[in-house]
Amino acid sequence: MPGKALFGLDVAGLTAVMAGLGQKGYRAKQLAQAMYRERVSALDEITTLPVELRQRLTEEGWAVGRPQIAESFKSVDGTERYLIQVGAQTVETVWMPEGDESPDGDDGDAAELGGWKRATICVSSQIGCAVNCQFCLTAKLGMQRNLTAGEIAGQVVAVLERHKVELNKNRVNLVFMGMGEPFLNYDNFMSAVRLLMNEVGIAAPRMTVSTSGIVPGILRFAQEPVRPRLAISLNAPNDAVRESVMPINRKWSIGDVLDAVGTIAFKNREKITFEYVLLQGVTDQPEHAAEVVRLLRKSKLPAMVNLIAWNPGPGIAYASPKNEDVLRFQAVLLGAGVQTYIRRPRGRDIYAACGQLKRTTAGAGVEA
Ligand code: SAH
Ligand code: SF4
Repeated sequence: MPGKALFGLDVAGLTAVMAGLGQKGYRAKQLAQAMYRERVSALDEITTLPVELRQRLTEEGWAVGRPQIAESFKSVDGTERYLIQVGAQTVETVWMPEGDESPDGDDGDAAELGGWKRATICVSSQIGCAVNCQFCLTAKLGMQRNLTAGEIAGQVVAVLERHKVELNKNRVNLVFMGMGEPFLNYDNFMSAVRLLMNEVGIAAPRMTVSTSGIVPGILRFAQEPVRPRLAISLNAPNDAVRESVMPINRKWSIGDVLDAVGTIAFKNREKITFEYVLLQGVTDQPEHAAEVVRLLRKSKLPAMVNLIAWNPGPGIAYASPKNEDVLRFQAVLLGAGVQTYIRRPRGRDIYAACGQLKRTTAGAGVEA
C-alpha cells in the first residue's frame, strides 16, 4: 500500500518535500508536471527525476498515490460511471460525453459518430452527504467522510487519463455535483479547484460548483479572487415546500441563501444557475413556477434555471414529473423572461444520473 501521497500537494507542498530531501525547487515542478499534466501514476515512471531520488522518495514512504478507477459502468447514452478507490472506500465520478450539464446548457447527441467533441466530468466532494435532502439517494449513505484535495482532483485526472483527453484540443467542463456537499468540505474543495486550475490546466469558468445553500460557504466563495461558476439547488418555490424536501432550509432559508449569493461580484455576462428538481405534485405545478419567477425577480440576481426531472431511487417516495408538466413549468419561466433549460438525464440505466450516486455496484448498463 502506498504511504504518503504526493498527489494532492501543490507546488509549494512538493517544494517542501523536496527541500526536506535536500533537493532544489525545480524538482518539485518536474514532479507536478509529471503527476498533473502527464498523469503519471507511479514514481518509478517519472523519468525526469533521477533514479536515486525516486528511490529516496519511496524509502521515505512517499508514493504518487493518485486515486484509481476500481470499477466502471457504461450507459447506453455514452455516460460512464466510475467507482474510484480512495483509501479503503470508493467514491463516484461520472463522465458525460457531449454532456448537457455545461453552464451554457446547450446539448448535443452523445458519442456522435462514436467520438465526442465535448465532455463533462461530474466530481464528488465527500463520501456520502450529511444534508439529507429527501429526494436524493446519496443522502441515504449518511455522511461518511470528507475527501482530501488530492482525492477530489484525482478523480478528474484519473478520468482524463482514461479517455486520453488533450486539454488543449478537447473541451472539458467540470461539475462538482457528485456525492456530497462541496461547501461543507470547503477548504479541500477549493484546494482541489486551485490544483485543477494551476497544475492540471482547466480554467475556472469551465467549472461549476453546486451547493444546497450552505450560507457560510457561499460567503467565503464570494471572496475568492478566482472561482468556478456557482449553482444553487433551489428545488422549491417557497420556504414551506423547501423545508419539507430539504431540511437544511430550516437552518438557512431561501432568503438567507439569496442574500449570500447577492454578495458575489458577478463577472460580465456571468449567470448564477438555480437547479430545480421537479417532483410530481410537490414542486412541478404552474403556480410553483410563478412563485419561482417572483422569487428570482425580487432577488435581482443574473439568474438562469436548470430544471431536473426527478430521477427515481429505491426507497424514495416521490414520483417523476409528467413530461407535459416539465414543459409547462419551463414555459412559465421562459414566458417571464427567465433563461431556463431542461437537464437531460444521463446514465439513468447505470445509476449515474443526478441524485442517484450511491456506489451501486449493479447497473443495467454494460460493464465498460
Ligand atoms: N450536494 C450538492 C451537489 C450535488 S447534487 C447540491 O445538492 O447542490 C446535484 C444536483 O442534483 C442538486 O441540484 C440536487 O438537487 C439534484 N438531485 C439530487 N437528487 C436528485 C434526484 N433524485 N433526481 C434529480 N436531481 C437530483
Ligand atoms: Fe447532499 Fe446534494 Fe444529495 Fe442534498 S442533493 S443530500 S446536498 S448530495
